[in-house]
Amino acid sequence: MPEITVTFEDGATLRLPSGTMAGDALGAHAEGASGKQRKVLARAVAARVDDGGGAQVLDLSRALTGDCSVAPVLPDSPAGLDTIRHSCAHLMAQAVKRLFPAVEITIGPVIENGFYYDFKRPEGFTPEDLARIEDAMRAIVAENLAVTREEWPKAEAVRVFREMGERYKVEIIEGIPEDPVSLYRQGEFVDLCRGPHVPATGHVPAFKLTSVAGAYWRGDARNEMLQRIYGTAWASQKDLDAHLKRLEEAKARDHRRLGQQLGLFSLHGIAPGSPFFHPKGTVVYNTLVDYVRSLYGRYGYTEIITPLVYKTELWKTSGHYDAFREDMFLWKSDEEEYGIKPMNCPGHCYLYKELGKHSYRELPLRFADFGRLHRFEPSGTLTGLTRVRSLAQDDAHIYCTPEQLDAELAAFIAMVREVYDAFGFERVELTLQTRPERFLGRVELWDAAEAALDRAARAAGYAVTVLPGEGAFYGPKIGFDFKDVLERTWTLATVQIDCAMPERFGLAYVTPEGGEATPLMIHRAVLGSLERFIAILLEHTAGRLPLWLAPVQVAVVPVSEKVEAWARRVREACAAAGLRADADLRNEKLGYKIREAQLQKIPVIAVVGEREAADGTVAPREGGESRPAEALEAFVGRVASAARMPGGAP
Ligand SMILES: [Zn+2]
Ligand SMILES: [Zn+2]
Repeated sequence: MPEITVTFEDGATLRLPSGTMAGDALGAHAEGASGKQRKVLARAVAARVDDGGGAQVLDLSRALTGDCSVAPVLPDSPAGLDTIRHSCAHLMAQAVKRLFPAVEITIGPVIENGFYYDFKRPEGFTPEDLARIEDAMRAIVAENLAVTREEWPKAEAVRVFREMGERYKVEIIEGIPEDPVSLYRQGEFVDLCRGPHVPATGHVPAFKLTSVAGAYWRGDARNEMLQRIYGTAWASQKDLDAHLKRLEEAKARDHRRLGQQLGLFSLHGIAPGSPFFHPKGTVVYNTLVDYVRSLYGRYGYTEIITPLVYKTELWKTSGHYDAFREDMFLWKSDEEEYGIKPMNCPGHCYLYKELGKHSYRELPLRFADFGRLHRFEPSGTLTGLTRVRSLAQDDAHIYCTPEQLDAELAAFIAMVREVYDAFGFERVELTLQTRPERFLGRVELWDAAEAALDRAARAAGYAVTVLPGEGAFYGPKIGFDFKDVLERTWTLATVQIDCAMPERFGLAYVTPEGGEATPLMIHRAVLGSLERFIAILLEHTAGRLPLWLAPVQVAVVPVSEKVEAWARRVREACAAAGLRADADLRNEKLGYKIREAQLQKIPVIAVVGEREAADGTVAPREGGESRPAEALEAFVGRVASAARMPGGAP
């Protein structure tokens, strides 16, 4: 029997017979190891095998046939979780077939934190069905059925699945190029699959079925409707419990719910995806704009206001008409085609050009624009403030010379850092999104732009994850990803170097030598869309906005009608100091009024009773805690200074 050399994570090597299973190789290596190491190994759900052609995650039962390195894939690693989740999808399909033999199976991929499987069944699954399916899954886990990989000639696989009445599987197999095809078997259940899978059904440690939804076969509305069951699976019950708790928390923090509870905004069928900001929500919105505007002076931006409606000629020049037309609102008036702007950049380029010849001395030009944008997002995708048709960004475009590029990027990154610090966004990671397959502009420009972005991020001390091919069609981009309290990642700030638009618009500046050159163009936003930013901030803070941003900063709560006059005085003193204050003069119990103010997430509650009225003081409650009574003037001064906008603006 020929032998192969297997290398392990600790650098040790073993000579083993060719055909040894990956799991057995790991076992042979572990023989000399400590009991603790052997226990770790026993939890392995798959193996990472590299035979020189790149690492692959394979079944523990996969035969090793050449020199290679082998490492265990543990359940709580990303690859281990994928393996568990996909195995759990098979487990669920097997349980469904046991309970509902007439159901046809289709596909069951892994998704973030879980998996789903689509089934053909005339009627939907009820919550009671899900509970029964979970029970059946637990029974299959207890049976600890071996999960084995088989390879069948394609024609044979088609024949067998046809006999089983699995029409969708037949269609899938007929559509794939491989022959033979691999199948995975566990007990009586067999499914077409590339794997890898856990070695036995007992290796799916913890799972829960979460919901059911309708889904079209192959995601196409012209096809038959299937029933999709979603589930989540984890390496331990503890991890599953933590995940379920995060889901609960996310529900409680849902910005749509908070938006209603706090009276910030609403959405109505009359204008799909276009939020109505109520008075309080408008305060939040405008205060965010004021904040960014206050930074613009220091960072050298000038604000402009540009049209909402243009002739489509503009987007034919910019390239958006070809690349983005599907997402725009377009119509014809007077035989002319018009559209509402989905972004500001083409208008800014047009203005740059119309303003006449620019000298290098004028650059950089930084045009900022809070203009409202409209995008024709499909109605099925509209969600609260996170996916809208009407939005505004803290948008700006910088026109500069190549020599100024590095300094502009550094200044922008500094601005992002200042803003993120102001909101306490600490966990920030950067991604660099590079040239996609369909792109505009010259490759040399793209390469130089990608290098400049990478250089700027590293110079600012950030590690950068490259996402190849994910850039916009007109230029590469850095995204500043922020991780919220629920461990979700959001891209807020972005900076993009445009490799196409300046040339397409024929933009130019006069160089020091008197020649003409094309300026560089940078697209950048810090908050991104204001709508989306508000949604994310609401969920991150559970509606407890920072004092400077809270729509009502102080709730004045009189103990009884007798002190109403003093309550009014307190409110007026707050308002005179620029604080947003409300006095709750309703004839309700004190406890009730305090609870209401807390539910409204009002940061400062000023309780006033007879003693306060007599002494000219207030009794503040902040962050759920009572503070000692304070003279009115001292109270107002302290709160007003705490409520100052970050960044040094008044
Ligand atoms: Zn599978
Ligand atoms: Zn832009």
